[in-house]
Amino acid sequence: MKPTVPHTVPSWSEIYSGSRVGEAGQSTIWQKRLEYAWDIIGGKYRFGMLGLPHTYPAKLINGWWVAGYPATLKMTVDVCFPKSIRERMDGYEFSIVEEYKIGSWAVRTMNAFDEVTGRNDEIVNNQIRLIKELYEEEPVEVLWVQFSFVDHLLHLIGWEDFHPFIKETTEYIYSKLDSVVEELYRHFQPKTLFICSDHGHPKPFQHHPEGILGVYGVHINDDVELTVNTCDLLPTMLYLLDIPRKLQGEVIYELFQSHNITEEDDEIMKNQLKKLGYIE
Ligand SMILES: [Zn+2]
Repeated sequence: MKPTVPHTVPSWSEIYSGSRVGEAGQSTIWQKRLEYAWDIIGGKYRFGMLGLPHTYPAKLINGWWVAGYPATLKMTVDVCFPKSIRERMDGYEFSIVEEYKIGSWAVRTMNAFDEVTGRNDEIVNNQIRLIKELYEEEPVEVLWVQFSFVDHLLHLIGWEDFHPFIKETTEYIYSKLDSVVEELYRHFQPKTLFICSDHGHPKPFQHHPEGILGVYGVHINDDVELTVNTCDLLPTMLYLLDIPRKLQGEVIYELFQSHNITEEDDEIMKNQLKKLGYIE
């Protein structure tokens, strides 16, 4: 997936709005009023979001909202909606970097590496616990969550090409991400699942304009490979959710299986054709 602008904040703006930020004249989500995913989807479905970057302060929403990095070292009540969620966020962290404001120099021993990744495990488990709790109390039909640790750990360790733990960090990040996706998938059993990143992190680990988009679900083609833009994600989600909206981004129609004719449909069609005398 390719953003039209290759950096974090405007990339997320494109993902949330389905519009190209340059043309929309905005570079952060609050700068100019556009409709965002939570407004549009929330108009029809209950919407839950947690950890989405740059979504502080939380706004009134049809569902629940816990802002993501860098919301908030302050942890004011504005980090979430409804505000009552704040009471159960003691000890909650938005990211590993909130605590480890250190350079890669600090993670040069195996002990330090274990400490950082161990602490990250705790933070991520806390985030997953909160997602499950909120959902249990107030189920939503669309759930959008984001984990900043992939980006942040690569920044922490990866400023140098030859950091001693680059290999271990990369392995840790991707196996952790894999287990997080598995856990959430098993728990929520979504009909459709989108996995996206706003940018990539090739070696040396700094931002690269190309990120990924993976889509799984009913009627999704599983063997198609495409290059799409970040602003195409929301229109595609809206298409699946049956919410018509004209946005700058486009629906990625190639993702969907063209015609899924079931045996039952086939039988009905044959009977029709028999009646009409086309077949015997
Ligand atoms: Zn980054």
